[in-house]
Amino acid sequence: METRQFKAESKRLLEMMIHSIYTHKEIFLRELISNASDAIDKLYFKSLTDDKIGMNRDDFAIWLTADKDSRTLKITDNGIGMTEEELENNLGTIANSGSLKFKSENKLDEDSQIIGQFGVGFYSAFMVAKKVTVISKAYGSDKAYQWESEGVDGYTITEADKKSVGTEIILELLEDTEDESYSEFLEQYRLKSLIKKYSDYIRFPIKMEVTHSRPVEMSDEDKEAGKAPEYEEYIEIETLNSMTPLWKKNKSELKDEDYKHFYTEKFYDYSEPLRYAHVKNEGNANYNALLYIPAKAPYDFYSKEYEKGLQLYSNGVLIMDKCADLLPDYFSFVKGLVDSEDLSLNISREMLQHDRQLKVIAKSIEKTISSELKKMLKNDREKYEEFWKAFGLQLKYGIYSDYGMNKEKLQDLLMFTSSKEKKLVTLDEYVTGMSEEQKFIYYATGDSVERIEQLPQTELVKDNGFEILYLTDNIDEFSVKTLMKYKDKEFKSVSADDLGLENTQKQEEIKAKEEENADLLKELAEALDGKVSKVILSQRLKSHPVCLTSEGEISLEMEKVLNSMPTDQKVKAQRVLEINPEHEIFGKLQSMSTSDKEKLGKYAKLLYSQALLIEGMEIENPVEFSNLICELM
Ligand code: ADP
Repeated sequence: METRQFKAESKRLLEMMIHSIYTHKEIFLRELISNASDAIDKLYFKSLTDDKIGMNRDDFAIWLTADKDSRTLKITDNGIGMTEEELENNLGTIANSGSLKFKSENKLDEDSQIIGQFGVGFYSAFMVAKKVTVISKAYGSDKAYQWESEGVDGYTITEADKKSVGTEIILELLEDTEDESYSEFLEQYRLKSLIKKYSDYIRFPIKMEVTHSRPVEMSDEDKEAGKAPEYEEYIEIETLNSMTPLWKKNKSELKDEDYKHFYTEKFYDYSEPLRYAHVKNEGNANYNALLYIPAKAPYDFYSKEYEKGLQLYSNGVLIMDKCADLLPDYFSFVKGLVDSEDLSLNISREMLQHDRQLKVIAKSIEKTISSELKKMLKNDREKYEEFWKAFGLQLKYGIYSDYGMNKEKLQDLLMFTSSKEKKLVTLDEYVTGMSEEQKFIYYATGDSVERIEQLPQTELVKDNGFEILYLTDNIDEFSVKTLMKYKDKEFKSVSADDLGLENTQKQEEIKAKEEENADLLKELAEALDGKVSKVILSQRLKSHPVCLTSEGEISLEMEKVLNSMPTDQKVKAQRVLEINPEHEIFGKLQSMSTSDKEKLGKYAKLLYSQALLIEGMEIENPVEFSNLICELM
């Protein structure tokens, strides 16, 4: 018997399989089943036009047989089979696989990932078997052949005895080692669960003889004597796969529960999803998809550990568990899967990223998610608010990131708590509620709604009857600044100098007062020794004596956020201390300015510290602050 040599690159792939330390060796079964299913497909399609084949669709099947005594696992199909030449060409040379091409350009230690993500085909059998035998009879041929190999040393092809058309693959499993159990691939429960996991949607039945046990019928006497029942084993043929994937079924056949049940099972989530979409797309991209919006963020959602992505299937066979390229970051919360006939099973990660078809699918998926969210907002407000509480942050990051590139797409999905009813409103609702004289979309920032409510800066805007958006997340002001405008209305912080409020008479009065008290204001600023860029008389304060605002691009809130980030570069907002000219304290300051300069300086420090506290910021010198208060007391 002549031993034939593998082609050079096949040999390399084979070596890689044999020495693989990849932990999910179990995928060999997925690969072999997928080959068997392809082979059946070929014969089945032939049978549609060729009566001589004499087979119906129901006659096709894949069989699994495990034999513990000989440590063999057999995968049998009644597909198209291979001729001697095909055995030689297909199994001796594996040159055209996409993953192989990718592999030859990469180092061996990076391979484990590739094995897991993509079909590596027939040779994956060598990850678990020391010897592989393929017995095949091709359709139309009267002879059967046997291909046999124990690895890199080569293979033999001999004539064999096989009556029916099809292929039988026999794996003689490797011996168990300390780290690796191969025997488990002989266990029924393990095989069953592997089929469920990887090959549930193969369109032909995968059958196995499964051993069950049942109690033996007892005689009445034995029963009365209280004898323990005896058990006997019996064998039943089971179909291990469910064959039609849920997403390929007609929507009319499916109930709400089916979708929800599928979600909780498949994505290990205890809570039902807020919404789902079953997409059947034809045209520029052919795919079926199931998309789910979870009710709760996974515990690691806002961390680096979280991996976004949809499951990717090629015609019912899982090729990737989390295909990140299918989801933009701002929709990373979406769970689900995509099944497309346009993608090949053997596509590598590298190639997938450049795949034009995948990009078309991703675009289409993004549109669907966006329109589903909008529908939810419109028709199911309560659920949308629940969604917003779980994932709103992610959308706000989406507005801010990539230099605002996606803001148009996302702005209508935003919500903020508003001052009017302390309820969440969309920007559209806010703008619709604006009166004619209101020029801006007002917002205020702070740690919580309660805190913002107490900010003196909000008084004037509220007095004018204008609604204010309360921005309580760190990212909020950055997002709003990225948006700049919504429906031609500019965003305006309640701390900004020009609030655009019609009250010119009062403004002029204050301007005049400011000129009169120019020296006093300068003295106050000097006493604060560079902590503020200026002290002014406030146009916005009513009852409070002081508040702190900022001028320039960086607000106090942004200063807080940016400085909490783990970088060395610290920023400082240009602070402005505003004093209420109507407040009693202002008269006191005026008199001190002439009588007691030293006291004026202390008052300046006290007022500044108060303003910091109201703003929710730390005071710079708590001991000094406390001493100054005691002095007064
Ligand atoms: P791929 O399936 O990606 O082509 P494989 O290494 O898995 O790569 O298989 C190589 C070729 O061997 C297949 O393309 C197919 O032609 C043939 N083959 C494998 N398994 C079978 C089978 N069970 N029946 C018929 N042909 C098969």
